[in-house]
Formats: sequence, C-alpha cells, structure tokens
Amino acid sequence: MNLLIHGGTVIDVDGSRRADVVVEDGVIAEVGENLSAPSGATVLEADGCIVSPGFVDLHTHLREPGGEDAETIETGGRAGALGGYTALVAMPNTNPPIDTAAVVEQVHRAGRAAPCHVVSSGCITKGRAGEELAPLGELHGLGVRIFTDDGTCVGDAGLMRRALEYARALPGAVLAQHCEDPQLARGGHMNEGAWSSRLGIPGMPAEAESVVVARDIALAALTGGRVHFLHLSSATSVELVRAAKARGLAVTAEAAPHHFTLTDSLCCGYDPLYKVNPPLRTDSDIKAVKEGLADGTIDAIATDHAPHPAQEKERPFDEAPPGMLGLETALALTLTELVVPGLLDLPKAIALLSWQPARIAGLSEHGGPIAAGRPAHIAVFDPAAFWEVDPTKLASRSRNTPYAGRKLTGKVRHTILAGEPVVRDGQAQR
Ligand SMILES: [Zn+2]
Repeated sequence: MNLLIHGGTVIDVDGSRRADVVVEDGVIAEVGENLSAPSGATVLEADGCIVSPGFVDLHTHLREPGGEDAETIETGGRAGALGGYTALVAMPNTNPPIDTAAVVEQVHRAGRAAPCHVVSSGCITKGRAGEELAPLGELHGLGVRIFTDDGTCVGDAGLMRRALEYARALPGAVLAQHCEDPQLARGGHMNEGAWSSRLGIPGMPAEAESVVVARDIALAALTGGRVHFLHLSSATSVELVRAAKARGLAVTAEAAPHHFTLTDSLCCGYDPLYKVNPPLRTDSDIKAVKEGLADGTIDAIATDHAPHPAQEKERPFDEAPPGMLGLETALALTLTELVVPGLLDLPKAIALLSWQPARIAGLSEHGGPIAAGRPAHIAVFDPAAFWEVDPTKLASRSRNTPYAGRKLTGKVRHTILAGEPVVRDGQAQR
C-alpha cells in the first residue's frame, strides 16, 4: 500500500518543517513540499496536524498471558495505535511471568497480529520473586532489551548488583527498576501524607521510592551497568536522578502522565480508580516531575497503562489492585498539561514520547527521522483538537481511566505502522 500524508508539519529529531510524506511499500520514499501522490496511493490529510515518528511506550501492561479479562495484546495494541504508538514494551508481570524463552515467544507471536509493534520485556528474577536471576542472556537472544520485575522492586541489593554485572555483557540491555522499598512500602495503599492521615488509609512514604533510586544509582556507579527508573513520582527521586546524570552515570528515567497531572487529594472519595503504584503524590512532587521532564532529567513519558476489569476496581480501596489506563490519553495529557501551559515545546514533548524512549529500548526502527529510506512508523496528530475522555469509547478492554469527563487538547488522527494506516481519521482500522 502506498500513501501520501498531505499538508502537515513534520516534527522529528531533525527539527520542524512543512512537508508532505510519501510512503511506498512500508518505507518512507520522499519528504518534501507539494509532493504528488504515487499512482493508486491513499491520501491521508494532515491539515493542521503534526507528522512525527510513532510513539514508543516503555511501560505497557498488556496482561497477556493470563489476564485476558483485563486486556489482550490485540486490544492493548489497538489502544496503543489510537494513542499514536507504533511500539509498546510489554511488561512481564503476566501469568506466567515473562521469564522464559517460551513466554517471550508467545508474546511476540501474539504481537504480530496487533496494530502496534509489541516488544517483550523480560523479568530480572525468576517468577519476579527476587531470589534467583532469570535467564537474561537467553531472553536477550530473543530481542529482549528491557529487564524488569515491574510491579515488584528487586529489593535485594546484592542480586541487583549481580544482574547489573551480568547485563553489562548483553548489548543494549537495561535494567528497569520499579523503585519501592518493600519494607517501607509494606501495607501502604496511597501516598503517606496529610491526605492518608485524614482518610485513615495506610500510606507509603515517598522515601520508599527514593531510597531505591539512591541505592540503584550507587549500584550503577559500582558496576557500570545501565539502570532505567520506571515511573518516577517523587521530588527527591527526580533530584537524585538529576545529580546522577550530572556525574555522567548511565541512568535514565521515565514519568507517567498521572504523576504530572493528579495528586493524592483525589483519593478523598476512597475511589480505587485513583489507586496506583507508585501512588499519586503531592503538588510539589508534580511540580518536580514537570521540571524533570522540562530539563531533561526525565527521558521519557511512559504510560504504565494498567488495565483492570471493573469488578476488580470496584472493590474497597485497600483491596483493589493498583493501576490505571494510559495509552489513549498520554499524548493529550502531555499537550494539555505541559505544552499548552508552555513548560515544553512540541519537539521536546514528542522527543519524550518517541525517539528518547525508542533509544532506551534499543528500537532503532522507531523514533528515527521522517526521512527517505526509514521504516514508515508514523503518528499524525492534531495538536489543537479538543475532546472529552469517554471511558465507554476507549479501545482498551478495561475502563479504569481516572480522566473520565476531562476535556483535553490534542488527538491522534492517523497512525501508520510499516506503511499501513492502522488508525485513519481517529478510527482503528483493525
Ligand atoms: Zn511499576
């Protein structure tokens, strides 16, 4: 299938310019002004739109295998495509967890039918139990680059040190830590602070996160290994990463949209929609996360898309599982909360959604320039479109978005995966 993406503004790692884009056989064939459509080409109008490399999510819970009542690789892939994503890194806290070659292959096989590239992560420890290393080398051989026990922290510093030493021999491998000291966080269901005391909900202190960030920075320095910090949520953590980068350490970090848009005060109605790990924190933490995104301390916006079936999220606050949807709202939250108020310009916002995460995950096909010869993984979005989040209209199999009724700016118009318009005029094509 051949395409002409007509009338948009291209923004990529090389800058911003008005240009049409011709795609032939899955590859970008030509980029320039006033291009004409190759014969038989489909024309995708991009009037008033930004044409950028497709987005890359470092942190998606696709729930398959084992949690298909919440999401599947197909439904999550569709939600990703509608959010402008062309690649998703699938988190390994599935059932069984992704700690063997067989499960990696299963995820990749199912991913081939999804309208997004699905790349498996792999566990750091067997069964995410924190006791014994998973077969990192074997998983790496199947294309796994991000290793994580996400959902759980690797609490044992000695084991984390060994994993970092081992992973140094695996090109492109990065250990992604869910920073949550198990003892400090034990029994907590929300951020520890004024709101947790008022509500009588046991809290977990921000230090449960920052002590592990500090520890793993020390281990990165000790081993020379690469550490990526998942979903940073606290001001102290951001400050620690900033200082580590200033020392030249090989650390990277991501933040999730809910950690720069929502605070712990939203737990006031005991609604588990607002329960997430790490928990929603305070205004000053939000401010710090935003500053970290603006000054380059935080490298990527990652969704931590965590679908749960309604009956799970309707349990009492202390029994409900943590997590919220993210794929279909991440771009709009980034534009509404960071770009419109002037904290980030558009190229920086797209860098955080596309080429910076692509680099961390070692996905060289994604996030590259919109240039002839490159694979055509492209997002086309209207940065001014105004819409209201309606949970019933989401493509995810689950409905647990905390943004129902929220009015946002910015919507994906087309998503192109390997030259195929998998989303056209805001509608998923498969
Ligand atoms: Zn996590």
